[in-house]
Amino acid sequence: MPQLDTFRPAAGTLPVRDAIPARYTWDLSAICADWDDWTRQLASLESAIDAFTALRGTLAGGPDCLLAAFRALDAMGATSYRVWYYTSLQYDQDQRDNAANARRQQVQIVFARQQQAGSWFNPEVLAIPIETVRGWVASHPELAVYRFAIESLFHEQEHVLDEQGERLMSFAGRFDSVPNESYAALTTADMRSPSITLAGGERVTLSYGQYRALLETNRRQEDRAAAYRAFHRTYADQQNTYAALYNGVLQRDWFHARARGYATTLEADLHGNDIPTTVVENLITATRDGVEPLRRYHRLRRRALGVDTYRLFDLFVPLVEHDVRYPYDEVGDWIIESVAPLGSDYQAQVRRAFRERWIDVYESAGKRSGAYSAPVYGAHPYMLLNYNETLDAVFTLAHEMGHSMHTLLSHQAQPFVYAGYTIFVAEVPSTLNEALFLDLMLERARSRDERVVLLQHAIDSIASTFYTQVLFADFELQAHRLVEQDRPVTADVLNALYAGLLREYYGDVLDEEELSKVTWARISHLFGSPYYVYQYATCFASAACLMQDLRSSSQTVKADAVARYLSLLRAGGSDYPMRLLARAGIDLSRPDTVRAVAVELDLLVARLEAELAL
Ligand SMILES: [Zn+2]
Repeated sequence: MPQLDTFRPAAGTLPVRDAIPARYTWDLSAICADWDDWTRQLASLESAIDAFTALRGTLAGGPDCLLAAFRALDAMGATSYRVWYYTSLQYDQDQRDNAANARRQQVQIVFARQQQAGSWFNPEVLAIPIETVRGWVASHPELAVYRFAIESLFHEQEHVLDEQGERLMSFAGRFDSVPNESYAALTTADMRSPSITLAGGERVTLSYGQYRALLETNRRQEDRAAAYRAFHRTYADQQNTYAALYNGVLQRDWFHARARGYATTLEADLHGNDIPTTVVENLITATRDGVEPLRRYHRLRRRALGVDTYRLFDLFVPLVEHDVRYPYDEVGDWIIESVAPLGSDYQAQVRRAFRERWIDVYESAGKRSGAYSAPVYGAHPYMLLNYNETLDAVFTLAHEMGHSMHTLLSHQAQPFVYAGYTIFVAEVPSTLNEALFLDLMLERARSRDERVVLLQHAIDSIASTFYTQVLFADFELQAHRLVEQDRPVTADVLNALYAGLLREYYGDVLDEEELSKVTWARISHLFGSPYYVYQYATCFASAACLMQDLRSSSQTVKADAVARYLSLLRAGGSDYPMRLLARAGIDLSRPDTVRAVAVELDLLVARLEAELAL
């Protein structure tokens, strides 16, 4: 089919939305036909809220009453996806659109009412003895669908306090966000970005974006050093404040854990998803045992860059100069081709995403930055990109496509109640799609430089998504243990902890850099979402483990891995993540699973060494 309306934005320009041909924009009519339809859907959400509210006080009446309430809850939830995404996707395509923004806020108001109107449900279910509910589930096949939802509700209940206790906890809850809000204010509103003068005389203000860009592109080590030191100096100058705020996070987590009867903060955090603490501990131990390929990579970089000293600011600069552009129209076919190992059905769904306009491709005036996949229940996933023809943009597309296929298969296979999935499994398909795409790109690459760029991209993503995240997880676990053991938390203590970890992970491949020890102060996840980052690493390990089988020369092993993987995607949120992964053949409590990453990294570094002949 001839594509007469081919479009590539000229470099350095920001097109207006109307100038972009429709086939590069998403078609939102699968969510709502138009604004009139949206208005009708919003009205039906409001009636669904009323219908659900009317069921209050009926649950103890028996299995049919409980079933009716669960179904009313689902009906309310399903409609809320449509009304929300129809407005929020329109808003994101042009955030200057006041009409879309007003409707988006209208939905938020209805959501607040929905949340309030639904708050009776969980306590009322939990007031029924668990054995009674189990009896109902066993005798009513239609209610059996909700078995896992019910069991996990009672599981969460295990650490809920009596009424007076919960009242106190809700008062204390008002302080919960203070450390993170203070951190956010200190690092954004009150932050003065430092300025430096580059060796060429150019003056640069180092916002985080500019700082990162400089480390990734500037080939003069003295410039990188100046940027790194100026940037970290701003944190070092306020390190006692950061330490006090982080101590606030640690003390709060320990307070919550103890008040609710957990032995440790880690146990408290993992309980909801029923993840054993050994998963995180095993991740850290097995990663520490597998740091050699990471060090091998940095030794290679040191040789390739030809530098006398090698420090943290030398980790990101490209090994070769190779500026290739990837036009969107070519990349779509590669993405489709790259998922061929997952079977023709999966491939057909990816083709649909391109043909049926699920993707909003280019940056345009007013559009939201970044990239995401939006799980629109009742329609299909949508992807927002700001595609700029770089290698990063291509891999971002592969990544978001992985999320979208997960959403699609889960929504197709699961009832509404389990259609969503937890973050603990979410990054498996996105990472796996990137790995499949890398394999295809490496196969097609025609020049040495192109292969070097691809290998470096793959290795850097293992370094940053896996090793760096495990190092952060290691840090926050040890920091939490300090307060659990009644030991002091000061800037000196946290700096020493971080400096020690850098030595343990990088060994002697990095030269000492005094300011590196304050890095913990600029990792917002540590302050905003404790015990979160390890999940990037466990997802990465799970994907690496599956990729080993998908690359197998045995057709049986491969076919089996595909079947297990697709069943994981179809399972959505129908069980606890560890059990879902176990069904896909992944056991994160085994060191081998984590070691799959080190094995893969070692192979990639060996290939890079061969390409560079170093
Ligand atoms: Zn992702």
